[in-house]
Amino acid sequence: PLVQGWQQLPPTLWSAQAPQLSPVRHLGDVSPAALRLLQLDARQVRTDAASVETLRALHSGERLLPGMAPLAQKYAGHQHGIFNPMLGDGRALLLGEVAMPLGRLDLYLKGGGRTPFSRNGDGRLGLRAALREYLASHALYGLGIATSLPLSLCVHQARVLRTRLEPAATLLRLAPSHVRIGHFEWLHYRRDPQALSALVASLGHCYGETPAADAETFFRHTVLRCAQLVAAWQVWGFVHGTLNTDNLSVLGITLDHGTCAFMEQYQPSLAPAHDDTGGRYAFAAQPQAVAFGLRVLAQCLAPLVPLPRLQALLDGFDSQVENVILCGMRSRLGLMMSRPEDASLVAGWLVLLHRHGADYTRAFRVLMSWGDNPAADAAFARALGFAPEAILPAQWLASYRQRLQQESSTERERQRFMAGVNPVYVLREQYLQRVVDAAEEGDFQPLASLRRCLTQPFQKIDACEFND
Ligand code: AMP
Ligand code: MG
Ligand code: MG
Repeated sequence: PLVQGWQQLPPTLWSAQAPQLSPVRHLGDVSPAALRLLQLDARQVRTDAASVETLRALHSGERLLPGMAPLAQKYAGHQHGIFNPMLGDGRALLLGEVAMPLGRLDLYLKGGGRTPFSRNGDGRLGLRAALREYLASHALYGLGIATSLPLSLCVHQARVLRTRLEPAATLLRLAPSHVRIGHFEWLHYRRDPQALSALVASLGHCYGETPAADAETFFRHTVLRCAQLVAAWQVWGFVHGTLNTDNLSVLGITLDHGTCAFMEQYQPSLAPAHDDTGGRYAFAAQPQAVAFGLRVLAQCLAPLVPLPRLQALLDGFDSQVENVILCGMRSRLGLMMSRPEDASLVAGWLVLLHRHGADYTRAFRVLMSWGDNPAADAAFARALGFAPEAILPAQWLASYRQRLQQESSTERERQRFMAGVNPVYVLREQYLQRVVDAAEEGDFQPLASLRRCLTQPFQKIDACEFND
């Protein structure tokens, strides 16, 4: 059931564009989680020759399904704080929108060739960036964080030049919408309030607003969703890397994972994009970067709503983000109740991790198993990977244990609760490297295995090769 919703919007927002042919060498992976969003069964799809052939033909650009009318979306954006009107889908095509009972899903082909918005780019995607997006999306999905979700990944016969020559790849990916703050910046730049209203109205169904939302309601939803999204990134240690406004979804969905990373050593200054030498998009700076984007969006909506009303909605953003982060950190520490001292308890924990260069993800699992046992402090410090000469984090542990006494849960309950919010698996650079190396040799078993772990990250899979 494919529909063409985007084509109903003013033509300044898109350009019809067919994918360019590129023969597929391997269908590298098909995502059971993404298939479930389409109410399809992975085993059925994988074992059905016609389905596999259809997927390959979509990736290669050889065939489209009835109802598909591919297009590139036009948007602008602030890149590292500087406005650029010349952006848009430069290497991604909206093939069509799938009408599902709970709403529409955009079906995008990423890496399908040049578009009118490619500028100097080749319109292609390198294998490494494709695998990073594929796996990082599944990791976010597994953590319950809003994200676009790839359906399948193909490796092509062509090669592309990135930091080195690598195989070209394509992704098919799903999201309820790919509308970015940059779309609004484009219409604002064009001084087109009618198109602005039309774009706002087109998003109403995403918020369950019928009739379509007005711009103020839309902005309120956007602020709330962006606050929840960036807070979740902070709680689970995700760094997007390039939070330009053209990469910021107005629905609070993680988009464009090409430069992202999960924090391994706890390091608030981590900025994984190579060109971000100033740390504008460092881990700790993400809430500010999102707030910047929302201020830009408010300016764009000013022709529709008096600016002070929009600014009033933004006033609460910082404290909203802080509150959601605190709630998330509380649960990661196994605390179900809320106490005034929790904020400083969390801050103290992060100071410890930072000072000792602990692994952010593993530290919570260690705390889960050792935290309540004073006799095991030395083992605790060792398990955290603290340097041998490090002073035991005795003071912090003492306040943590005191705080645990105020909870009504038993030790077992706390452990079970913590096990459900503290992942065993996140995407690590060395895991990604292993998957890339294997994929370059045509071996996609590590990719499937890691995708499986990341999609259900709270359960340790004993036989998994990614347990180190
Ligand atoms: P990004 O910040 O990586 O999401 O991309 C910024 C802009 O550059 C977007 O408009 C992309 O579509 C475009 N772009 C990035 N890489 C390529 C490429 N290889 N070919 C064409 N356009 C690209
Ligand atoms: Mg982008
Ligand atoms: Mg990108």
